[in-house]
Amino acid sequence: MTEPRIVDVVVLGGGVAGLAVAGLLRQAGVGDVCVLEPLALYASQASARNAAMFLPVERDAVTTRLVLRQAELLDALFAGSDEEWLSRTGALLVSSDASKVGALHSAVTGHGFTCEVVDRESIVARVPALKDGDARFGISVSASGVLNTHGMITLLIERARGLGVLLRNDVGSTRVECVAGQVVGVILADGSRIATRAVVIAGGAWSSEIGTACGASLPLTPLKRHLHWLRGDEAEDLKWPVVWSLDDEVYFRPESGGILASPCDERPTHASVDTIEEADAKDALATKLMRIAPSLLERGVRRSWACLRTYAPDRLPVLGADPRVHGLHWLAGLGGQGMSVCLSAAEVTVAAFTNTPHPLRDACAPDRLIATMEQR
Ligand SMILES: Cc1cc2nc3c(=O)[nH]c(=O)nc-3n(C[C@H](O)[C@H](O)[C@H](O)COP(=O)(O)OP(=O)(O)OC[C@H]3O[C@@H](n4cnc5c(N)ncnc54)[C@H](O)[C@@H]3O)c2cc1C
Repeated sequence: MTEPRIVDVVVLGGGVAGLAVAGLLRQAGVGDVCVLEPLALYASQASARNAAMFLPVERDAVTTRLVLRQAELLDALFAGSDEEWLSRTGALLVSSDASKVGALHSAVTGHGFTCEVVDRESIVARVPALKDGDARFGISVSASGVLNTHGMITLLIERARGLGVLLRNDVGSTRVECVAGQVVGVILADGSRIATRAVVIAGGAWSSEIGTACGASLPLTPLKRHLHWLRGDEAEDLKWPVVWSLDDEVYFRPESGGILASPCDERPTHASVDTIEEADAKDALATKLMRIAPSLLERGVRRSWACLRTYAPDRLPVLGADPRVHGLHWLAGLGGQGMSVCLSAAEVTVAAFTNTPHPLRDACAPDRLIATMEQR
């Protein structure tokens, strides 16, 4: 009897992270790469239900470097496409407290971005809905905007296919099989098995479950966040930037003739109940909008949805080889920045996989979380 063929790497998860890493693995010279996605559609979970904002104003240096690198990688992904990866609307970060704006301004310029400090008059001129609110100080970041998420997903799938990645959807839930601390295969929902000696966990909110099931648990927590689409006036074509309040953590931006807004809520939850809307979700938005842009409340909520952002305790992504199980690799914990860092984070995972240097390898390695777990 002949042995089944061994696939070089199986990527678990067909969201933007899994699709990105599969293509980069092939580009790095890895032989067979297979992506397994339990659902019928690729990138239909967090990758399709986010706010699509590109805000290169992260407060930590690691994420900022990932966002900067992502811009270069998206330029390359969209080269040759008729579409742009970013609609450069800019972003306006506002507060009633000058010191908050000052601190963010120093951080942002320290990371190498250009941004402009703006006063109350300029804030209201840019976004008239802020007229009756308490935003008095702000910074405007021109490198920000709204990501073309549909274009990104389409190109990531096309590129993966073009590079010879085997994409398999609708395969049901999958489980990593390990023997004596080594990955030996992946078991599919129908009981069939793919022989492999390497797996990349890119399962978004399900990553923690996948790791735990093969003896490699990590403290990754899915946090539910709501988005609300507020009614618009058919005739208006708003050219507002993304608006983010540094006081209450609430954001809004124009979307499809209305306004997309989030109260930046975070509720620990189980991955299987990700989309169920919480009863008080709209109240949280109303309370926060009342302070910053009360006139938006008159529009009413037309549609709401929820999805999960998955974080490690230090809020940095988890990228690279798991020292406990040979052949197990992570591309998880992308939190609320996954659309803005999926390719650059995947690059770190691939660097660890191929054991090539990368300046962010150590900062993002799972080892830091394992060390903390062992100390407890
Ligand atoms: C409300 C909200 C707003 C956001 N706003 C922004 C934003 O403005 N800007 C930004 O950059 N980011 C934003 N994000 C974050 C971004 O959407 C995520 O970080 C990103 O989509 C994560 O991609 P992923 O591929 O890791 O996860 P997902 O897209 O969730 O993909 C994971 C995939 O793994 C699959 N899977 C599950 N179990 C298994 C298994 N056992 N085997 C194999 N596959 C499995 C799932 O079906 C899923 O398709 C937001 C997120 C949310 C929820």
